[in-house]
Amino acid sequence: MRSEAAKPNLSANANFDTHCLGLEMRSLSLFLGAVFSIMLPAIVSAEKPFSFNETPGKLPKTVVPVEYSIRIVPNIEKLSFSGTETVRVDVRGAVHQFVLNALELEITRASVDGKVLAQSAIKIDKEKELLTLALPSALTSGDHTVAFSFSGKINQQGQGLFYIRYQEQGSGATKVMLGTQFEATDARRFFPCWDEPVFRARFQLTVVVPGNWLAVSNMPVENEKKTIEGKEVRFAATPPMSSYLNVFVAGELDLIESRSGPTQIRVITTKGKAELGRYALNATAQILQYYNDYFGVPYPLPKLDQIALPGGFGGAMENWGGITYYEAALLFDPKNSSAETKQNIYEVLAHEMAHQWFGDLVTMAWWDNLWLNEGFASWMGTKCTAHFNSQWEVWLRRNLPRDPTRRVGIAKEQAMEGDARPTTHPIQQPIATEAEANSAFDDITYKKGQTFLRMLESFLGEDVFREGIRRYIAAHKYSNTTTADLWSALSGASNKPIGEIAAGWTEQPGFPLVKVKREVDGKVQLTQERFTVNFKNAPPLEWQIPLTYSVFGQAPASLLMAGNTQILQNIPADRALKLNVKGAGNYRVEYDAPSWTLLLQALPKLGIEDRVNLLSDSWALVQADRALVSRYFELVEKLPASTEIAEREQIINVVDFINGLLDQNPERETFQKYARSLLRPTFDTLGWESKEGESPTAGNLRASLINALGDLDDPEIVAGCRERFKKYVANPASLAPDLRPALFAVVGHHADEKTWTKLNELGLKTTSIEEKQNYYNALACAPDPNLVKKTLAIALTDELPTSRAIFLVPGVARESGYPDFAWDFARSNMKALLAKIDAAGANRYAPSLFTFFSDDSRADELKTYAKNNLPSASAPEVAKVVDEVQFRAECKRRLTTQLHAWMNKKSR
Ligand SMILES: [Zn+2]
Repeated sequence: MRSEAAKPNLSANANFDTHCLGLEMRSLSLFLGAVFSIMLPAIVSAEKPFSFNETPGKLPKTVVPVEYSIRIVPNIEKLSFSGTETVRVDVRGAVHQFVLNALELEITRASVDGKVLAQSAIKIDKEKELLTLALPSALTSGDHTVAFSFSGKINQQGQGLFYIRYQEQGSGATKVMLGTQFEATDARRFFPCWDEPVFRARFQLTVVVPGNWLAVSNMPVENEKKTIEGKEVRFAATPPMSSYLNVFVAGELDLIESRSGPTQIRVITTKGKAELGRYALNATAQILQYYNDYFGVPYPLPKLDQIALPGGFGGAMENWGGITYYEAALLFDPKNSSAETKQNIYEVLAHEMAHQWFGDLVTMAWWDNLWLNEGFASWMGTKCTAHFNSQWEVWLRRNLPRDPTRRVGIAKEQAMEGDARPTTHPIQQPIATEAEANSAFDDITYKKGQTFLRMLESFLGEDVFREGIRRYIAAHKYSNTTTADLWSALSGASNKPIGEIAAGWTEQPGFPLVKVKREVDGKVQLTQERFTVNFKNAPPLEWQIPLTYSVFGQAPASLLMAGNTQILQNIPADRALKLNVKGAGNYRVEYDAPSWTLLLQALPKLGIEDRVNLLSDSWALVQADRALVSRYFELVEKLPASTEIAEREQIINVVDFINGLLDQNPERETFQKYARSLLRPTFDTLGWESKEGESPTAGNLRASLINALGDLDDPEIVAGCRERFKKYVANPASLAPDLRPALFAVVGHHADEKTWTKLNELGLKTTSIEEKQNYYNALACAPDPNLVKKTLAIALTDELPTSRAIFLVPGVARESGYPDFAWDFARSNMKALLAKIDAAGANRYAPSLFTFFSDDSRADELKTYAKNNLPSASAPEVAKVVDEVQFRAECKRRLTTQLHAWMNKKSR
């Protein structure tokens, strides 16, 4: 799943990881036994290989579903459905009851082996989401059958079965279609089932839909016949898989198709949009071939559908054979879509398709190993995207779809920022409840997971690593696994104790800082310690670090740093030494003064990956209060002139963060002037218009710079945007699609009432979800209090898809300069807003709106609000935001003083 949008992650620069406070406390007490001892041994892996019986979960392992046959009849008018289901089960030992999952379902009839149960024998525990059938007499081991009749709800938000209301392309008529979203624990809202990933079974679905609708599920249609209600569509049974991977989509749909070897591939859209799926269809064929080869096991289903949903949910979901996407993450309009959109589509496709193996064919046994799905799919998707599109620099740049409320950020940096805080948690974490399973979709799971895999791959070598993955897939296909199974396959392929190296990275929180100190006689001393930000008295930890380094003029070298200290020998005293070659490792580096001076001198000869790594580490040291902010900007000033996008975006992100902190601050004007002087030369090199033969990322960088310089009130940029917007309104073809989102945002940032109204009109008119989003993002930027209020009110209307409308509020909080208005509005309308979001999102929504404050008093306000209004499942989210607000407040005080002193010194 692409959690970024599906489980909204709303922070600007912060990471929204969950449930870590409890865990951090636990490791604190764990370490009390070793008080003051710095030389702690790294944790050694304790996890066991997969065993069905020992897999955690609520459901007893004595009744195991083998094959489901499900028939669903939706009633669109009443927003409900009725269903019948027969499940063949394998009973292991004598049982007196069946325990499975059901939620918001009414069970009207249940029978076991054909015998109808009394209504009193059917119990639903709403809280635990369990359905219990008391059996009149004990069942013996072996094959049995249980059958149900039931009814349920069609939801507004993307949870279980949901409806999407949308404007049809061309006619503009309002239409309704259906979709499903089951991960993590919502298949139980569609049919009674053993809704834990370890209960793999075959699923055979039959649906009844209107005659002019197309119905899609995991497998091809086996049979279709007319009925009085319309038509009955019977799909072929799936191979054994987890319940959360089921899918059902239906509506007035169009499609385009092709084949890749034995696999039929299709892109399915609402009427009139199929041709916009051409780019995705071609990319699908390319990616499928790459994965068939990489995994060594060909894609196992007869077809693969890529399905665009114009609303309902905001991300993408890897349902086996029928992947669903928020429309803007799948459809590409060559005339009107930006290069960013194109890259997002490729990355999301590559991520979801990697899941068809890692997640679907082989599935984590329990949600504590979610990272096996998500960390792996993120790494594999990025690797595949980089393989076919090296010009995009995906490793160095963001690799998740851009959330409307969020700036670009490098995946690795986002993971490390969150992982340095007191609210972090290990990649592998205990999961007890449904709420915890839903909260597990966070930056640590996705991004630290992928960063760690990348570090491991670069340590073992590409070929050895792939051999390990092939062994893993071959050994566990159509089954479940734990992390231990992956390490054992990689150890087998590499003859290295991967479990021991990996344990420190996946079973404990945080990551190391390596300090570099030059000594006499060519010796360099390396020491490691835990790297933290805003985290006093952090428990000390130690890692086995797959470390790489390069001495200028020599080939890069690697070593496994297993202890606290390591000495490098024979390093010439006059040569620069760079650790973490190409920034592929998940650690920070702090150089002593002589090493730093040599590195600055060598800067022009460093490659782009190493320059970005130095910038990121320097900024992190500022965040950690280990370096002055002047040290970061001195590095920026020493960089050779360049239009390398990854490097310039790193600087833009930092400038944007500081500019936000200095809102209403007397230092802001001086800082903005300085920041413009850093960014403007690059923009002047690029110019407004694209040039023949420029780099493929020039358009993206041009847009980023326009956005950033507009935020920094560059008068020429603002005037240039306004003039081009006027021309665009008269003739849309006059403005390159790449520039539109940024240019609209700048226009929005400086909008008067007339401009605001124009942007809103344009947003109302378009049937393109991507374009619509661009206009409403721009509305969220408007800085005038009256316009802020008008924008906020739209969040309660149907102008935007359900899954998007509510994010106007955090958008306003971030962009308008009035986070207080946004919070006041949300507090007054919380019930109506939360009706548009699923349960996991709801836990994050209110806390997320505080992320944009940088006053300690707001942290206290959130704590009080949470105590009185939020469920306990929100606690980890609240802790994270409280930490973020406190961090920003502290950072504001510290950086204001430092910037003042430094800018004064510069101007003298
Ligand atoms: Zn995923």
